Amino acid sequence: MEEKKSILESYPDYRVDIGIEVHVQLNTKSKIFCSCSNEQTDQPNSHICPICSGYPGVLPVLNKAVIEKAIRAGLATNCTISPKSTFARKHYFYPDLPKNYQITQDKEPICKEGFVTILKEDGTEKKIRLIRIHIEEDAGKNIHAAGSDESFVDLNRTGTPLLEIVSYPDIESTHEVRAYLKALHALVVATEISTGNMEEGSFRADTNISVRKKTDPQLGTRCELKNINSFKFISDATEYEIERQIELLESGQKVTQQTRLWNTKTRQTMPMRSKEEAADYRYFQDPDLPIIEVTQNWIDQVKAIMPELPEQKLQRLCAQGLSKYEATILIEDRDLANYYEAAAQHTQSKLLINWVLREVVNCIKESKTDAATCKVAPQQLAQLVDLIDKGTINNRAAQEVFEVMAATGQNPAEIVKEKGLEQIDNTAELEAIVQAIIASNPDNVAAFKSGKQQVFGFFVGQAMQKTKGKANPQKINEILKKYLS
Ligand code: ZN
Ligand code: MN
Repeated sequence: MEEKKSILESYPDYRVDIGIEVHVQLNTKSKIFCSCSNEQTDQPNSHICPICSGYPGVLPVLNKAVIEKAIRAGLATNCTISPKSTFARKHYFYPDLPKNYQITQDKEPICKEGFVTILKEDGTEKKIRLIRIHIEEDAGKNIHAAGSDESFVDLNRTGTPLLEIVSYPDIESTHEVRAYLKALHALVVATEISTGNMEEGSFRADTNISVRKKTDPQLGTRCELKNINSFKFISDATEYEIERQIELLESGQKVTQQTRLWNTKTRQTMPMRSKEEAADYRYFQDPDLPIIEVTQNWIDQVKAIMPELPEQKLQRLCAQGLSKYEATILIEDRDLANYYEAAAQHTQSKLLINWVLREVVNCIKESKTDAATCKVAPQQLAQLVDLIDKGTINNRAAQEVFEVMAATGQNPAEIVKEKGLEQIDNTAELEAIVQAIIASNPDNVAAFKSGKQQVFGFFVGQAMQKTKGKANPQKINEILKKYLS
């Protein structure tokens, strides 16, 4: 997991302050204020009713499952759960918002003052503090038809329950942006409150970035990056934006507060709109919705059924012998973690984690699938690493076996047999091979004995060639040393 050098290293006088707002679509069965399905569908305007379409005179009815999921999110991020919270109307006018206001939480959000722990670049822990998590409804979607001057409105998404998770500007680098989003994403997936599918918009991050001289006590003017739907693009856009802002200041110009979009083709951020002053949303408490009361009893009930959290899983995996780095990769990818844990049930081998993080990860990248659908079953990978541990095959043969497994789904022992890949481990046999090589290469022997250490590699290569790569490499080394000294 190599990371590019941060642009900040080229500007040691500067620092960056980043706050992030994440919108998470909750995976409830129905929408937040009506009984319409909350499933994604390709059929526009098929999951709608008078309530989510904003007809006059209708009354919203709060979906209790939304509150429970918000409590889960709050507990998972160390927030205080408000005993009483309220809904407000946030007014703005846009074709995909038929009521002309969004129901959201303004003054009294359901969760306050939490934190998410991340690993900094140097491997130490850092707490990114949360200001709040509030509940709100999503808007619909405007669809602008290509090659036509018509626009359409799809209201399927109106009334989808959202959590908005708002951090303090505690994030200080592109690495930390990524680490924070990965950690938060792992939390919403682990608590089973959202699919976390970024391409479908279930996890959307708005990143507020500002730079300043380290000596400047005040935050700089910020720009907001909106609607970027992959971790990679968010990292790239953040890096670009830090550089753009520093260069503006360095050349004596000012940063204008604005919302910017990431153009994946030009790999630049582009202005979307300027915010000269904060919009007046005319918030007021929604008279149609009751105050939400959350009792300690309810919180305890939610706690009791909470799935294992990433932090707990991290500790459990470390206690089983994984490094913090290895465990962190696993908790960021639930399918991969499940894969590893399923395989670990069948082997004690210390090699397992390396094979999961290297070969399995590469394999799913290449086949563009995920660990859950990898052709090599976890149990089969366990068998493979056991074959290496037992000395049946060497590492090089194991690579070959894995490739066949990934293509055919065959068992490793079967492949080893078919291809005759058993490691040659017999000392007498290997000694004979080494002696023959030494006998037929007197010049190289002389060179080695006169101090040319690098000739040793030639002999190892010869032995591997003669055994078609199947010799036990450790034994070959030992035997060569013995005969060449
Ligand atoms: Zn509806
Ligand atoms: Mn929002």
